[in-house]
Amino acid sequence: MKTLRLILGDQLNAQHSWYQKTSESIVYLMVEMHQETSYVRHHIQKITAFFAAMRAFADGLIKEKHQVIYLKIPHPMARKPLNEMLNHFIDELSIEKFEYQQPDEYRLDEQLNHFCANLSIASECFSTEHFFTTRVELRDYFSGKKQWLMESFYRHMRKKHQILMQSDAPLGGAWNFDHENRKKYKGEHPVPPAMIFNNNVSEIYREILSEKIDFFGNINPEALSWPINRQQCLEQLTYFCQYLLEHFGDYEDAMHSREKYLFHARLSFAMNTKMLSPAEVIQKAIETFEQNTHKISLPQIEGFVRQILGWREYVRGIYWAKMPEYQNLNYFNHENKLPEFFWTGQTQMNCLKNAIGQSLDDAYAHHIQRLMVIGNFSLLTHLHPDAVDAWYLGVYIDAIEWVEMPNTRGMSQYADGGIIATKPYISSGSYIQKMSNYCDNCRYHVKEKTSEKACPLNSLYWNFLEVNRTYLQDNPRMSMMYHQLEKMPAEQRAQMRERAQKIIQNPDAF
Ligand code: FAD
Ligand code: SF4
Repeated sequence: MKTLRLILGDQLNAQHSWYQKTSESIVYLMVEMHQETSYVRHHIQKITAFFAAMRAFADGLIKEKHQVIYLKIPHPMARKPLNEMLNHFIDELSIEKFEYQQPDEYRLDEQLNHFCANLSIASECFSTEHFFTTRVELRDYFSGKKQWLMESFYRHMRKKHQILMQSDAPLGGAWNFDHENRKKYKGEHPVPPAMIFNNNVSEIYREILSEKIDFFGNINPEALSWPINRQQCLEQLTYFCQYLLEHFGDYEDAMHSREKYLFHARLSFAMNTKMLSPAEVIQKAIETFEQNTHKISLPQIEGFVRQILGWREYVRGIYWAKMPEYQNLNYFNHENKLPEFFWTGQTQMNCLKNAIGQSLDDAYAHHIQRLMVIGNFSLLTHLHPDAVDAWYLGVYIDAIEWVEMPNTRGMSQYADGGIIATKPYISSGSYIQKMSNYCDNCRYHVKEKTSEKACPLNSLYWNFLEVNRTYLQDNPRMSMMYHQLEKMPAEQRAQMRERAQKIIQNPDAF
């Protein structure tokens, strides 16, 4: 039976059982689809990295004697919607069966479900063989429970997969060392240089320009830093385990203007394209830990495992349990547009200038920059979650909706009303001062609340608590903050409200 197998751009899993055997009757189809470049405006490094990785993957299949049809972005067929393109090849090649791997995005899942429902030949959907969990595992695990806490799911995953366990107990006697992972970086441990690959993607870049694909962000097309094939991904993993893991947990939440990556792995692109599996990443990190217990402590490896076995699988489960309603949630009814500086990095607030500037330069910012700088500002200035989602989905190299949306709309914007986070992740300038050196070189004074030179985040923070009192004051985790607010003199509160309004109305002036 002649079979057409579709491979999507984030399905670059060379270990998949599909590729164990070659067959004359199986044709693989990979397409640099226009539809995938335009559902949101993307960072140029994201588009080029995806296409470069897809091309490398197709070359690998061809070398192994698989039959591959690969359409580059200038190919006329690449402009067609997915279903039209598939119908074309099914007819042209006299295909008798259509096969694909389960898409991770709701949008594509719907499109392919619909396509197969109307197909006159047989079709079959396969697992991507990538995640630890199925789409519905989290939903089933939490069924009947009021709160879907990441921590309880994570413990379940540790037990189920026997990771960092001593039979039924967690290794070292504790499940979580989060409280030890909150150090400010003061230069005490030199950060090893980042692993940069300098891939030449000039040809792809030229094609994107000539096809008039809309994009933003910066690139040196002769030296794309991201790994674009499995070999490079494995090198990046080894580098992380050898040089960065030993301080990963300690400085996980730290931010520094001269050390933009600190000890982060920069492995999310490799994993989200499935060039690396989460299981092999965890296995390699644990092996390195076990062989180096004199220099890698348990909190470092536990912190890393929690991100992948816990958070990554958890947000995916939330996405599949709550879509499609999730994409429209807007708990606080926020309506504001993004400030212009989200596209330029031009702001006098040094924390935002660093975090957004770095995002535009590298298509990357680490978790706390995404959550506590950019996300925090977005929430405090009442930006519409749709606009925030679209920006995050476009800007980051690792942004695919299943992982981007729960993190952005849920964790950072609390637009889901508390499905993911038990309280909004908001802070005044003092948190940023505690965790970074950004305030040292800022025009604004982090300790001041109401003067012209006062840190904008201070008045925004207290204003947010005031205006959202009805939503938040009954949350026990917010009671200390409301207590503090009550103690403030009415005049000071009025001044902060006034300053916050000015910032919200014209954030680009700050
Ligand atoms: P490290 O800090 O080194 O962590 C190691 C790995 O853990 C990451 O590669 C990632 O696979 C996983 N991980 C860590 N935190 C999370 C998390 N919260 N959710 C899922 N996986 C996690 N991650 C994405 O992969 N794509 C996104 O589009 C994305 N959008 C985000 C938006 C916001 C507002 C926030 C707060 C976080 C977002 N994250 C996203 C999670 C996290 O910020 C990135 O995974 C991480 O910064 C990637 O860099 P790294 O590989 O150096 O991660
Ligand atoms: Fe950001 Fe305020 Fe610090 Fe400036 S003073 S860097 S605006 S937190």
